[in-house]
Amino acid sequence: MRTIVIAIDGPAASGKSTTARLVARRLGYLHIDTGAMYRAVTFRVLEEKIPLENADRISALAEKTQLRLEKGENGLRVFVDERDVTEQVRSAQVTRSVSIVSSYQRVRNVLVREQRRMAEGGGVVLEGRDIGTVVLPNADLKIYMIANMPERVKRRQKDLQGAGVDIDGVALEREISERDRLDSTREASPLRKASDAIEVDTSGMSVEDQVEFVVARAKEIIEGGGR
Ligand code: C5P
Repeated sequence: MRTIVIAIDGPAASGKSTTARLVARRLGYLHIDTGAMYRAVTFRVLEEKIPLENADRISALAEKTQLRLEKGENGLRVFVDERDVTEQVRSAQVTRSVSIVSSYQRVRNVLVREQRRMAEGGGVVLEGRDIGTVVLPNADLKIYMIANMPERVKRRQKDLQGAGVDIDGVALEREISERDRLDSTREASPLRKASDAIEVDTSGMSVEDQVEFVVARAKEIIEGGGR
């Protein structure tokens, strides 16, 4: 059976991660959360207390940091230099700082190289901001997910509550909008829909519907043998 490469891009809290994880599970594919990789580098930057505007030191740190994603019982586990930092990479401070760290081209070069290596054999679902445009422009299936702001806030709030964190909606909306702004206006690989991506507005969709939609498109390609 042919295995394919699936790229899922979109802004923060648009439904990418949940969908990517479940699509990968349905197809028996590897799920690669590229946002977690940028978060892991950001975690190290904060730990080393490197000022966020110091592109050279941040890039040098990214170049010598070893990242690994591993499938765990409750989703992906994130390792930096063989330390499990899965919980730490979701902290508010990492979330606030990651868009600066990911705007540096040298940081992106390191992580994109690694992402391409992981995708080499096919049978992968990569999610991020620039997968369909920069990392894997020849991906077999490209999905661009969006959702309206109230829905995105609601989803993020639910995720955080699950982790025991209570944040009010106004603060969350501000944080999501700011990340959208930084991610889509930066010079290096800004968040953009690839011209050949299928846009999916997940606002009114259940998780099952989102997964079903992507799996159905994937199966058409796998079974049809073409793009
Ligand atoms: O997907 P997630 O919200 O965890 O991504 C965290 C941040 O990592 C994004 O806001 C963005 O700044 C950066 N990112 C990126 N390119 C990717 C994936 C994530 O710049 N492919």
